[in-house]
Amino acid sequence: MSGKLIDGIAIGKEIREEIKARVSDLKAGGCTPGLAVILVGDNQASRTYVTNKEKSSKEVGMKSELIELPVSVSEEELLGHVTRLNNDQSIHGILVQLPLPTHINENHVISAIDPSKDVDGFHPVNVGKMIIGQKTFLSCTPYGIIKLLERTNTEISGKHAVIVGRSNIVGKPMGQLLLQRDATVTYCHSKTKDLAEFTKQADILIVAIGKTKFVSEEHIKKGAVVIDVGMNRDENGKLCGDVDFDKAREKASAITPVPGGVGPMTITMLLKNTLHSAEEAFKKETCT
Ligand code: NDP
Repeated sequence: MSGKLIDGIAIGKEIREEIKARVSDLKAGGCTPGLAVILVGDNQASRTYVTNKEKSSKEVGMKSELIELPVSVSEEELLGHVTRLNNDQSIHGILVQLPLPTHINENHVISAIDPSKDVDGFHPVNVGKMIIGQKTFLSCTPYGIIKLLERTNTEISGKHAVIVGRSNIVGKPMGQLLLQRDATVTYCHSKTKDLAEFTKQADILIVAIGKTKFVSEEHIKKGAVVIDVGMNRDENGKLCGDVDFDKAREKASAITPVPGGVGPMTITMLLKNTLHSAEEAFKKETCT
């Protein structure tokens, strides 16, 4: 058996076309959705993510503003930029690329973003709303994974979903979104004893740990749907996931590749959240 490929590039493109059409409608009504990205320092990986986000937002017709700040920037100065963007009616989404230098408190910065512009879905207010099932911005990676499952007609209700990894940006919100869709959810993490014991029970296995090819066929139940969030470099510098793709595919009924699985969906959902924010501003007649 060789599992079906879950094609994040194709699904992401499909959703971005839908976004593009809605952006065009908004622009015809005089409202251009705007995304502002703050990049601190010169971390190469962060710069690549930011460049991709900027490029993708322009491709769907959004306005994109990049604020580049030196690594030495003070927390106060950074917060000043956030405040300015909070008050700028042409900006509907604000994203501060993480990680930030250690002298800056990430929680202070995330909490300073107006929750109605927090398109990453990291603000405590939005996290709280997500957990109690209220409409809000959903964290982009887990939201993208939900879309991958929905658009491949993967049944979630009544299924056992096992999440490996419990970070605030991926693992934790992922489990909550699946729980809301009536999955039975198990969380695993670095202190979990006998990981395979749990992962082998998964109908849907989501792996977000940041360890190259850590999960392999012995962790997977035959017929499981496997979602690999990991973005790592192997010994040859090649991008690869947390799952040993070739071996896992033999057992899975469907699986995401790396690259080309979850990654393109994360950016797509960022654009979707920004569009949603602009549509709300348009309804309130505050979109310029
Ligand atoms: P974090 O480092 O914040 O969290 C990693 C999690 O994995 C922790 O909860 C940790 O457990 C757990 N973990 C680590 N080692 C093991 C182990 N041996 N067994 C079980 N659990 C383990 O990572 P992120 O969630 O931010 O990212 C995870 C991966 O996903 C990374 O490769 C990252 O690059 C990628 N990523 C990809 C995105 C995309 O768009 N494709 C978006 C975001 C992330 P504990 O809590 O106990 O320490």
